[in-house]
Amino acid sequence: MSIQENYKEYAETLQKHGATLVAVSKTKSVAQLQEAYEAGCRIFGENKVQEMTAKQEALPNDIQWHLIGHLQTNKVKYLAPYVHLIHSIDSLKLLKEINKQAAKYDRTIEGLLQIHIAQEESKYGLSFEEAKELLHSEAIKSFNNAKIVGLMGMATFTEDTIQVKEEFERLRDFFEEVKAYQLPHIDCRILSMGMSGDYEIALQAGSNLVRIGSAIFGERA
Ligand SMILES: *Cc1c(COP(=O)(O)O)cnc(C)c1O
Repeated sequence: MSIQENYKEYAETLQKHGATLVAVSKTKSVAQLQEAYEAGCRIFGENKVQEMTAKQEALPNDIQWHLIGHLQTNKVKYLAPYVHLIHSIDSLKLLKEINKQAAKYDRTIEGLLQIHIAQEESKYGLSFEEAKELLHSEAIKSFNNAKIVGLMGMATFTEDTIQVKEEFERLRDFFEEVKAYQLPHIDCRILSMGMSGDYEIALQAGSNLVRIGSAIFGERA
């Protein structure tokens, strides 16, 4: 199947579940992104700031760019002029820098707190406790140009679907908990969960933003 056909199929499936598709295009060429664009794709996810910025400059302006990979504080300035959503906020220090850089462009940048739900050591993210602390901090109230609008998580890479389901459900429960705090400076509406291998489980667990790469663009080298 072509990129265009894959994109259309996934976009339709997710729409039926009331979820939005982020086409994860990391390592793929501008020509490949252009193919997805022609099939109607307007949301692309990248995991490296430099690569995303180069693609943003080469492709049409009506694309929403999502950063899904780990973000270093010193790279925020490069994506601040254009980024639509940052999925990987994992510290107050990073949020503070996003606020500072967004202010320079008179924008408000929206972001998700990345929560560590997997058992693997290697994945980034905050614990539920750390996230609670950050959400209730004094500092976060003063960030007029950076806003938390939800949560992101990656499940353990395993065949054990029960475990994956439990991890996603734990994050979904925390998402509901954060909503119930009704914090005036937080707009908890986006739950980013699911990739090519586990998006069906994520949708069942309540995901409303799904990040799909290889199933659309093919395996990465
Ligand atoms: C690469 C990546 C994806 C997409 O992975 P696929 O398995 O190719 O769908 C989703 N989320 C994050 C954070 C990623 O880094």
